[in-house]
Amino acid sequence: MQKLDVVTEKSFAQLGLSPATLNRLAQIGYKMPSPIQAAFIPVALTGKDCIGQARTGTGKTAAFMLPSLEQLDPSRKRVQMIVLVPTRELSEQVYSESMKFAGNSGFEFGLAVGGRPIHRQIEALRKGVQVVIGTPGRVIDLLKRRELKLDALQIAVLDEADRMLDIGFRPDIEKILKACPEDRQTLLLSATMAPPVEKLAHRYMVSPEMVDLSEDRVVVDTIEQFYVTVDEDRKRSLLLRILAKEKPSQVIVFTRTKRGADALFQMYSKRLKSNRIAAIHGDLPQRQRDKVIRELRSGQLRLLIATDVVGRGIDISGISHIINYDIPEFCDDYVHRVGRTGRMSSSRQGRAITFVTLAQGGELTNIEKRINTVLPEYLVEDFEAFAPRNREARDIKKFG
Ligand code: AMP
Repeated sequence: MQKLDVVTEKSFAQLGLSPATLNRLAQIGYKMPSPIQAAFIPVALTGKDCIGQARTGTGKTAAFMLPSLEQLDPSRKRVQMIVLVPTRELSEQVYSESMKFAGNSGFEFGLAVGGRPIHRQIEALRKGVQVVIGTPGRVIDLLKRRELKLDALQIAVLDEADRMLDIGFRPDIEKILKACPEDRQTLLLSATMAPPVEKLAHRYMVSPEMVDLSEDRVVVDTIEQFYVTVDEDRKRSLLLRILAKEKPSQVIVFTRTKRGADALFQMYSKRLKSNRIAAIHGDLPQRQRDKVIRELRSGQLRLLIATDVVGRGIDISGISHIINYDIPEFCDDYVHRVGRTGRMSSSRQGRAITFVTLAQGGELTNIEKRINTVLPEYLVEDFEAFAPRNREARDIKKFG
């Protein structure tokens, strides 16, 4: 595994960014570009369509935002750039990162995300913003109301394109791109180049340049990863034992289903008698989701139980541990989940522990292939992870 190393050969100054942007980067403490930034920024600055294969946590927000802002005009109060992202949480993250990059350059940013009052977003748009960051559904809504106009648009960004397509945003994305001027620049960021992503790129981009950094850093090596085999009905006790042993400063426990997340939350909040526990999933009202993320960010929450859709993209440096209570259904989700710890902005080491039942050995192998690493077993002393018959089954497997 290669290291996600912020120190590359090139400095920001060598990427073609303006002195004002370089000053801004120095102010916010970005010293050297990450690999995706070093590779993507010079290409995006040329105005060409560009595909970047990279994950959240590798610095991709700056990779697309910095070269875009360089090309836009803060004195024109028209929407010149739109960034489409799959989730509300990610839109907010991109929004706050972008504000940092813009500093006092005069750019105004607007959010267009579902689950929040639309009138405030409309008000912001009416005042005049140059950059809109949003989820496809709400963007369509605002377009239909004619509150959002894309006729002066210069740059369209599809962030986490693979995930947007997974969620079913294809028709909305297509409508939005069709509403943009044809001579725009399109930037597409995606962790994988699955056929649907390629199809989208083929249809809506013009001879895109490819910047592929996916294989280099599938999982950052500031993350120690383990698996532990356990019977389904021993998982709850195992989690308690691991929490006691690891004493995480902050931990995200991933479940496959919303129901599973709620059930765990009920149980642990009672048994641990702690108000530092919360659950987050797509069925919760947006206000509650925001509150949870805020509390996680401030360090108030210690244990968060989450499903993939909302867990993905959370960028909080205090998270010391990820527990995959349910092994993720897709290998990509594994990469996204464990990437919530050992974040680039933190120098701290993270730990990820994946629970695997005896029947899920094949799924573990698929993950190991995907990350090109054999995971070591996490050992828990004096803990019966299996019913007696399964203990035998496990020994037979180990022997053979
Ligand atoms: P992203 O992949 O855009 O979500 O970025 C992950 C985290 O890394 C964010 O907290 C960024 O602020 C931080 N980051 C991105 N690029 C750099 C850089 N060149 N130097 C330092 N921190 C960075």
